[in-house]
Amino acid sequence: MNSFYRLFSNAKITLMNRKMVPRVIKNYLFMSIGGKPLRTVEIAVTYKCQCNCEHCSAESLKDIFKKELSIKEIKKVMDESVKLGAIHFIFTGGEALIEREKLMELIRYADKKNCLSSIDSNGILLDAKTAKELKDAGLDAACISLDSTDKKSHDSFRKFEGCHAKSIKAIKNCTNNGIKVLISTVITKEGLKDNSLYKVLDYSKKLDSSVIFCLPIMTGNWSNNKEIRLNKKDYVLVDKLMEHPQARLCEENNYFFKGCAAGSQKIAISAYGEVMPCSFLKEKYGNIREERLEAIIKRMQKKKKYSKVNRKIKCLAA
Ligand code: SF4
Repeated sequence: MNSFYRLFSNAKITLMNRKMVPRVIKNYLFMSIGGKPLRTVEIAVTYKCQCNCEHCSAESLKDIFKKELSIKEIKKVMDESVKLGAIHFIFTGGEALIEREKLMELIRYADKKNCLSSIDSNGILLDAKTAKELKDAGLDAACISLDSTDKKSHDSFRKFEGCHAKSIKAIKNCTNNGIKVLISTVITKEGLKDNSLYKVLDYSKKLDSSVIFCLPIMTGNWSNNKEIRLNKKDYVLVDKLMEHPQARLCEENNYFFKGCAAGSQKIAISAYGEVMPCSFLKEKYGNIREERLEAIIKRMQKKKKYSKVNRKIKCLAA
């Protein structure tokens, strides 16, 4: 029953924007004859951010000497992505809302292209007026970070005093404005042992939302920290956590709803135009400022692990 509910609710998210249904069907038909359509393109709008989170991948991608992509450059790569099958754009950062006008314009463009759009946000700038503006621009979903229902532990993880209160407010502002909210929570060894991850799940249930759990990855401030990596026993607890109907993992975000899609159905584009299989896998295969996206993806998919969805692997980066 739980897996049926899961499949139904994942499919519901995929089909949230009705205008893209014909393209989803086309992509499944294309796959049935061996085609490899893209699904999700994650675009870093900026690497500026108010927080300094433990797990952040942006920290190791940021380069103050490089120029961030312009709206025109991002629109061009969105056009190319749609031609390759993309149906979902994730606008991320840093904190994408710091580049407010740029973000709003890109959401409007995704809507014009009949694509699902979502943002990753720490919630700090997501007040009621902004939520309405995002909705009017055509935003489908907001993935808001909430690492714990405990104020102290969330704020210390994010290294920003008051971040927890802002996240809660942002979640309410989105819900009140008809934006689907997904709560983004990083799994930690501690969280698996105490009850804190289940508390976030309970909170999301009240909102009729889901929690997208991120596995801990050695990146950013965790780059040299082997302690954070989960072992076999921890993964047993992750599997148990995933039995909760509200719990999701990134691996459900592909056409099969199972397996890591990095490089095959999902790609990430850095704020400087570099193309990677995922923002947590920092192998760069080319730059959209110098080459067509299709050529870069072809090069990436020559690597076996990025040639198709790795159905038996939860996350290639973890
Ligand atoms: S490596 Fe795969 S599962 Fe892990 S975050 Fe990236 S796309 Fe998601």
